[in-house]
Amino acid sequence: MGLPALEAWAKDHGQAAFRGRQLHDWLYAKGARQLAEVSVLPKLFREQLSAQPPEGAFDWMGRSRELHRSIASDGTTKLLLATRDGLSIETVGIPAEGRLTVCVSSQVGCSMACRFCATGKGGLQRSLAVHEIVDQVLSVREVMEQRPSHVVFMGMGEPLLNIEVVLAAIHCLCTDLGMAQRQITVSTVGVPRTLPRLAELAHERLGRAQFTLAVSLHAPDQRLREELIPTAHAYPLEALLEDCRRYVAVTGRRVSFEYILLGGLNDQPRHAAALAQLLRGFQSHVNLIPYNPIAEEEFQRPTPAAVEGFRRALQERHVAVSVRASRGLDADAACGQLRRRLEGSLEPVPAR
Ligand code: SAH
Repeated sequence: MGLPALEAWAKDHGQAAFRGRQLHDWLYAKGARQLAEVSVLPKLFREQLSAQPPEGAFDWMGRSRELHRSIASDGTTKLLLATRDGLSIETVGIPAEGRLTVCVSSQVGCSMACRFCATGKGGLQRSLAVHEIVDQVLSVREVMEQRPSHVVFMGMGEPLLNIEVVLAAIHCLCTDLGMAQRQITVSTVGVPRTLPRLAELAHERLGRAQFTLAVSLHAPDQRLREELIPTAHAYPLEALLEDCRRYVAVTGRRVSFEYILLGGLNDQPRHAAALAQLLRGFQSHVNLIPYNPIAEEEFQRPTPAAVEGFRRALQERHVAVSVRASRGLDADAACGQLRRRLEGSLEPVPAR
């Protein structure tokens, strides 16, 4: 809930509007987890709320419980969080000089079944709610004792299958946590007919789409792309790129393309040449992601020489390109790895 909703809520409960403001402050700025902690509210009022049916409903402030924490030597911190209905999701805090990026999940599991992705192996359980996304950012802030500067929707799930909630979460992060929309990235593997809707809804809900759209391309041609991403069958590469072009025209924002490098499979010079050809004249940026090995698949990590060769081949063809530094390799960093490894073997970390 944002400030206006909390103020209205306070009034509905017989309190002055400023109580809503106080609650907002404790919820977002102070990171309170339970109503009992919000000592600024009158004790009697808190007791009345706690006593209201269903019992204890008001004590819970929409926060998750931490099930597991995995900290890599580079400081990358991966949290496994429990939802209220007993499911688990991953969220990652990635520190870098002067910034802290939170990689959030948008769904529990994922229905897209990309072959190289650990999350895809378990299918989709359900989409997340707004508070469950915002909670991930608050949880990383709490654990790492640092204010997140960037948020990327690159955790579990396909954000474009949960568009309304993702946009409401972005609105909350910007309005209630004071983040900048420009520091937020939404990553999609592509869902037919959703990009025009994303542009339209972003305009409606956020005033203007200023977050970055990242599209997981991963191959320069339809055949290879379908091999890696079975759902691409329903969304031909030309149609996806056409939708991206329109998105750029409508929002005025440059799109970035993610390209996972799988050793020997899509990391050869001919793939780079084909990719450059495909993106000719497109206002875009390519982010190369060296594959993070997962247990279930035989894909290879690309050699450093292949990564550098691919990067150079794009650059020579005037494609804006960068290589994503692999972070947290010793913290099961690839999407969905931690949950998969720990499934069934966990005792929850006791609630604070
Ligand atoms: N469903 C969205 C967002 C979640 S995945 C999407 O597909 O874009 C975020 C990024 O991580 C995607 O580019 C995805 O292809 C990539 N990814 C998934 N598994 C990976 C792995 N094992 N190694 C490297 N990148 C991976």
